[in-house]
Amino acid sequence: MNEIVPPPSPPPIVRNDYESIRELFTKNVVPSYGRFELVLSHGDGSYVFDVTGKRYLDLGTGIAVCCLGHAHPAITEALVEQSRKLIHVSNLYFTEPQGRLAAELVKRIGDGKVFFCNSGAEANEGLYKLARKFGHDEGRFEILTATNSFHGRTLAGIAATGQDKVKKGFEPIMTGFRHVPFNDLAAARKAISPATVAILIEGVQGEGGVTPATPEYLLGLRALCDEKKLLLLMDGVQCGHYRTGKFQSFQKILEGVPGGEKFLPDGLSMAKSLGGGFPIGAFWVRAPCADLLSAGTHGTTYGGTPLACAVALKILEVIDKEKLAEQSQQLGAWLKSEIERLAKTYPTVVKSARGMGFILGLELAENIPAFATSDKTPALQFVNRLHAAGLMTVPAGNQIVRLLPALNLKAQEAGEGIAIIENLVKSLV
Ligand SMILES: *Cc1c(COP(=O)(O)O)cnc(C)c1O
Repeated sequence: MNEIVPPPSPPPIVRNDYESIRELFTKNVVPSYGRFELVLSHGDGSYVFDVTGKRYLDLGTGIAVCCLGHAHPAITEALVEQSRKLIHVSNLYFTEPQGRLAAELVKRIGDGKVFFCNSGAEANEGLYKLARKFGHDEGRFEILTATNSFHGRTLAGIAATGQDKVKKGFEPIMTGFRHVPFNDLAAARKAISPATVAILIEGVQGEGGVTPATPEYLLGLRALCDEKKLLLLMDGVQCGHYRTGKFQSFQKILEGVPGGEKFLPDGLSMAKSLGGGFPIGAFWVRAPCADLLSAGTHGTTYGGTPLACAVALKILEVIDKEKLAEQSQQLGAWLKSEIERLAKTYPTVVKSARGMGFILGLELAENIPAFATSDKTPALQFVNRLHAAGLMTVPAGNQIVRLLPALNLKAQEAGEGIAIIENLVKSLV
């Protein structure tokens, strides 16, 4: 008889604490991110917990991603249910969730078609390729983008992004992009060359500091693009998905503006909140151009998997059913009015409130004395102190702190957030 050999004991579980996880990162993860000194373990709605058990109110939602908060049962259910049926088959075949999600997006934007990918940068890449295809036979390829814009970290993404810090060290920068000042129609008109094929802007600049496009700018760009036969492309990756109260920011910015109801861009990118934390990106192309990217011209293995699309469909269903767009718009208006109140009450700390709905910015005053001793930006120092006080937010640039809450944030949680912020602001006067 063979001797019975007991199976080897499993390796010990990595001690689930701050130091050991930090160590794994230091040793093994490419240090391309400036991370906060927080190790997070789980979440529940608008709260996140770190490995020490400390609770944070999450008003950053993973940079405008977790639009239903953390651990939403509907998302879990969609993941479980769909993963029992079919996770992936590739785009060699048709699947129902992708078709249904495309129809939902078209319904919310306008007559056109949708391509699915996995991230915001990739969605924008699709728009660049669409523009190049559109202008190819006339030798046009150049895309104008805005100063202070952000369009992702791929090589074309950093070329499109109107911020030097993302380009530094990665030269030569891909040709075909030029930057023009945001909200400046005359500058856009002046910058158009015989090679120009498209203009790409964010409806609300997110990374650039929460700066909405004006209605005049949007309508003016539309007319300019029509006149010069350019594609008007919009990056809705951060400001989209009901963050402004409407599905896309241009729908909110142009609400009630004469001529605004007819406005549509020619292409629109989406990601972030689209999957609520499950990776998915997409771009929509307006009807006349919707078939430009013909078979064989563009693709990605994971684009529009049944799993990703089932999650995105479920999120839209929850947003509709629970009327989260309307609710978040009201709560967003309240949050903004509270930041305005802070600016009035503590002008040496808070300069202004920016943005709309649930894409808000708190602009810090210059020269806050308590921040003078550190070389970290005021926004970073403010966010670090908010962490200590149990609130998570995201900085934008040097002076702005963003609030990007989940669409299902509760009024009481919004109140708690403002109370934490006000306490900190008071201590900095
Ligand atoms: C986050 C972001 C991107 C990039 O999205 P990734 O998913 O990180 O590639 C592009 N555009 C805007 C406006 C963004 O906020």
